[in-house]
Amino acid sequence: MRAWAVVENGAALQEVEWPTPEPVGTQVLLETTHCGVCHSDLHIWEGYYDIGGGKRMSLKDRGVVLPLAMGHEIVGRVVKLGPDAVGVKVGDLRIVYPWVGCGECQACLSDEDNMCLTGRALGVYQNGGYGTHVVAPHPRHLVDPGALDPAVAATYACSGITVYSAIRKLLPIAPDEPIVLVGAGGLGLNAIAVLKALKHRRIIVVDVSEAKRAGALAAGATKVVDGSGEGVTQRILDAAGGPVLGVIDMVNSTATARFAFDALRKGGKLVQVGLFGGELSLPLPIMAMRALTVQGSYVGNVKELRELVALAQAGTLEALPVSVVPQSQANDALMRLRDGKINGRVILRSDAA
Ligand SMILES: [Zn+2]
Ligand SMILES: [Zn+2]
Repeated sequence: MRAWAVVENGAALQEVEWPTPEPVGTQVLLETTHCGVCHSDLHIWEGYYDIGGGKRMSLKDRGVVLPLAMGHEIVGRVVKLGPDAVGVKVGDLRIVYPWVGCGECQACLSDEDNMCLTGRALGVYQNGGYGTHVVAPHPRHLVDPGALDPAVAATYACSGITVYSAIRKLLPIAPDEPIVLVGAGGLGLNAIAVLKALKHRRIIVVDVSEAKRAGALAAGATKVVDGSGEGVTQRILDAAGGPVLGVIDMVNSTATARFAFDALRKGGKLVQVGLFGGELSLPLPIMAMRALTVQGSYVGNVKELRELVALAQAGTLEALPVSVVPQSQANDALMRLRDGKINGRVILRSDAA
């Protein structure tokens, strides 16, 4: 197999030749057809996250080993099954759920692998879709995209379930209660699409960029709020008609977390999704008296991936704009993402597609 791998953090991806893995046990070997280039790939490539106060969380310390084929928004075609793998056959096209764990703990056995304490995510701790082949640990991690465009279906494995899982953490909220989304980048637009598909009617979007706010309105946001400078909380309250029950922060910086938290009403919940970095200090008596919740949300589980794919197949979920490039251009695609030159999602397509 070939891969476009991180060999050294922060250096260009290198095309490498590796032995094609042999699936054992319940494993399934797939030939990658499509793989999304995700913003978190940039952090993996750089090798760290900013966790505020000038501190960095090193991915090497967290167990990421190089060389690594990144890529966790994978669609592939089954080419070989381990002796204990049942439920798929050679030739099947499948979305690969990448947020896998040990496969043995209660979380993994409940289809909540992303809550496993020993995460083994594809494209992070194991090789992913920046290679010609990928190994899924178990057939239950494979989801049939049906008639969906595989380039779009690939994005459901990360950006899709990331917003879907965050929204599920907020709901139920009545369709006419405002839900605030912070950040109108790819995740934000995706969240608008999912909320609309779930028949939610009031969506307020905050962003610092006028162009992105316009994009959010075009995508179906009810109102938009300028997220720059002072007074953002007040502008959110004005747009919402008062404090709100739910905010999803897809930026999650020191500044956005502050204004998002301050916009919550009694019983409100702030779901933190973004990985921008920074810190938030909480007024503890207010947390108690207003019964507030601040909850982190990271990707989603395989049940949520199945639900999201079903929602897309029902035809009410608008497909995000994707641009498709050859898999061999993985490095170029990653660099364009770093330089902010990408609108929508870039999908690597292999020769096998
Ligand atoms: Zn991702
Ligand atoms: Zn586990």
